[in-house]
Order: sequence, then C-alpha cells, then structure tokens
Amino acid sequence: MIYLKSPSEITKIRKASQVIGELLDAISAMISPGVSTWELDKYAESFIHERGGKPAFKGYKIAGLKPFPGTLCTSPNSCIVHGIPSKKVILKEGDIIGIDVGVIKDGFYGDAARTYAVGQISAEASRLMEATRTALFKGIQAAVDGARVGDISHAIGSYIASQGYYPADDLTGHGVGRMLHEDPQIPNSGKAGYGPRLRAGMTLAIEPMVNIGTNRVIEKGWEFFAADGSLSAHYEHSILVTDAEAEILTKA
Ligand code: MG
Repeated sequence: MIYLKSPSEITKIRKASQVIGELLDAISAMISPGVSTWELDKYAESFIHERGGKPAFKGYKIAGLKPFPGTLCTSPNSCIVHGIPSKKVILKEGDIIGIDVGVIKDGFYGDAARTYAVGQISAEASRLMEATRTALFKGIQAAVDGARVGDISHAIGSYIASQGYYPADDLTGHGVGRMLHEDPQIPNSGKAGYGPRLRAGMTLAIEPMVNIGTNRVIEKGWEFFAADGSLSAHYEHSILVTDAEAEILTKA
C-alpha cells in the first residue's frame, strides 16, 4: 500500500524534513579529526529536541536485535549504513563518514543522509562520494508523476555502474512520511519501466548506498559493511513526487 499524502500531511512531512536539512548542515562544522561519533549523536539529539522533533531511529526495533541506541546512524569508511554512535569511534584524518538521521515531528517523518570527508581525503574517496551524490540526484530526477519505481532504480544503478562502482545488495530506499519506512521499496538498481507507478503526493526516501569494490555486504548486528572492506558512501533525501520536478524536502 503506497500512501498519497494530503496537503496538510505534506506540510508536516516538510517540517520534519527541514529539521534534518538544517541538522546535516550544522553537523558538517563538527566533522573533524578527534571527534567521536557519540559526540555527533548527542549534538543531533539536542538539535532535534530544540526544534520540537524526536529522533526517529532511537529505539527502532527489528527482530533479533536490541533497539537501535542512537539518534544518528554513523557509518565510517567500509561501514555502509546503520553504524552505532560510540565514544570509541573517533574520526581520523582521511576518513569518510556517512550520517543518516530520521526525525518525527507532529506525527510525521523525514529521513536523509550525507557522507562527510574528515580533513583531507583520498582522490578515490572523494570520487566515490561525488558519484554517490550524483546517483541520488539521478534518482530524484527520475521520480516524476507517471514514472515507475524501476525508473528511479535504473537511473541510480546505471549511473553507479557507469562509474565502476556497486550498489550495496539488499539495501533500498523506501516510502516515508506517516511512518519511517513505508512502501514502496526503492532498489538502487533495476529495470526502467517496471514496478509501482509514481504519483504526485507520494513521499519517498531515495538513498543510494555505494561501494567501491563489491555489491556484497556483511552484517554485524545493526551494522552493514562492504564485504571486501572497500569504502562505501551514502546519500539520501526525502522527496515529494509532483507533476513536475520532485521537491527535495530534506534540502540544506
Ligand atoms: Mg532511509
């Protein structure tokens, strides 16, 4: 079941999403060698509460795991997604770190992620980040009324392949808004012209997760890693499908 949101629901989703855009901007000033992912997490939690929201990931439950403990998912280097913030994870010069955050405000959800460079990073890491960010925007461009989910997947996946990279297996984007995760799933590769039809009023979280060396993943509890230990990047926006260009709800 894919929900079409009413104008008043969209207004609330937009407000929750704006907190995320502002937070991901504010966090960029904190990213530097010596900072722990726990410090980033505490900062994010206060930031969200001060703006009348609540962290959407904290306490999130999936079968067989303890509830997710963080406000943020903080995923360095070969960690693809769902990294747990920790005092023991200290950012180092040359790292890349994916930061993913969900906010619930007035009953509605937004979700977005960015990857940040810690100090000077390698040309390879920089190229991966740029390609992943571009893949996100290719996906957003494909998300128009009348297109299909497969058009988004194809736009993302074909661009990733053209750069010589790999979308992480089994990790997808999703509908968002009334819940953190709604239908449809939005794979990061696939066939154009297939899948559910997109309609104006759908709100979607599009999120390419891209590895340099392999599509295979290893799960360790909550955390997903590139199976070959290669670098992984992640960018995500919550968007509103419209008759024209999609509106980016979590924009900076
Ligand atoms: Mg998401």
